[in-house]
Amino acid sequence: MNKRKIVVAGAGYVGSAVLYTLLTAGTADELVLLDINADKAQGDVLDMRHGMSFLPPVRLYAGGTPEGYEHCKDASLVILTAGASQQPGETRLRLLERNVRVFDDILGKMVPCLAPNAILLVVTNPVDVLTRYVLCRSGLDAARVIGSGTVLDTSRLKVAIAGHIGVDPRDVYTFIVGEHGDTEVPIFSATTISGLGLLEYCSQCAQCGGSALALGRLHELHDEVKNAAYDVIAKKGATCYAVAQAVKRIAEAVLGDQKAILTVSGLVDGMHGLPQGVCLSLPCVVGAGGIEKQLNVPYSDEETAALQRSAAALEEAWGEIRPSSV
Ligand code: NAD
Repeated sequence: MNKRKIVVAGAGYVGSAVLYTLLTAGTADELVLLDINADKAQGDVLDMRHGMSFLPPVRLYAGGTPEGYEHCKDASLVILTAGASQQPGETRLRLLERNVRVFDDILGKMVPCLAPNAILLVVTNPVDVLTRYVLCRSGLDAARVIGSGTVLDTSRLKVAIAGHIGVDPRDVYTFIVGEHGDTEVPIFSATTISGLGLLEYCSQCAQCGGSALALGRLHELHDEVKNAAYDVIAKKGATCYAVAQAVKRIAEAVLGDQKAILTVSGLVDGMHGLPQGVCLSLPCVVGAGGIEKQLNVPYSDEETAALQRSAAALEEAWGEIRPSSV
């Protein structure tokens, strides 16, 4: 296996932005872009290859499916971005049904080609339910099936808080758990500004008129974060650049065995009173083994209850598509 080889399956807005981000960051030394539409993958890679005189050396390939899955044989990370995105007026459930069919097509042909110990990273939405589906259909160890989860949402929240209080987003420590979507839960009880508790920071900052008002403003900021994707989609039809940065961060953690703490989605084992079998985001240690540990952070009672509601929503969606063999 080449520890620095990544295959991206799906050359749409997200997959192409992911490949370009990985390429320009020098994350891997071999990159492959695959799509059922081979021309789209090949066109993107040709376009990117023409800039290679400005970039660190990397072997870059493109292909169609299913023959392109041969490239998975020695890849350490395979990123799944194939599938449709939500159309105006389309329910999440309808999208889920469509993307389950796409994943049935991909997994049947790809999984037999995977290298031993390869990690699968699911980005296609609804990401938590599809992560669980991949886990069931692939038979891989739970640690090796990762959803990009709320890594993107967490970044959006850091940027929103940082913009509100006027600091560098990298100095905001916060995270979002649960579903990547409407029921996600911001963990304000563990949020700090470079180590200073958030409400303590707020009382020193005082721009929202006291801690109680500050908490209300924080929840408003989170509502904006939750709707951020809808705003971008309304203006340009898809989101791709920020998710590509989030995927690059996860890929770096895996390829570099960084033990980075990221809110990826994965199988939860009973923690916080969550139902067994559900996949959702919690802070996890991510390294070459995939999800190497899920951290049992003590949340407030309200946060725990909201996380349980998020899990219940994911259970309901899972009930609609659960394979009969599970
Ligand atoms: P897109 O329509 O631009 O691209 C999808 C690509 O998948 C197309 O190129 C299509 O040809 C390909 N495809 C379809 N069926 C295939 C198959 N059977 N085998 C191989 N390739 C196949 O969509 P997009 O905007 O790139 O979004 C992709 C997914 O990523 C969507 O589900 C979207 O909701 C999701 N997304 C997730 C996040 C996140 O944070 N998890 C963020 C943004 C978008």
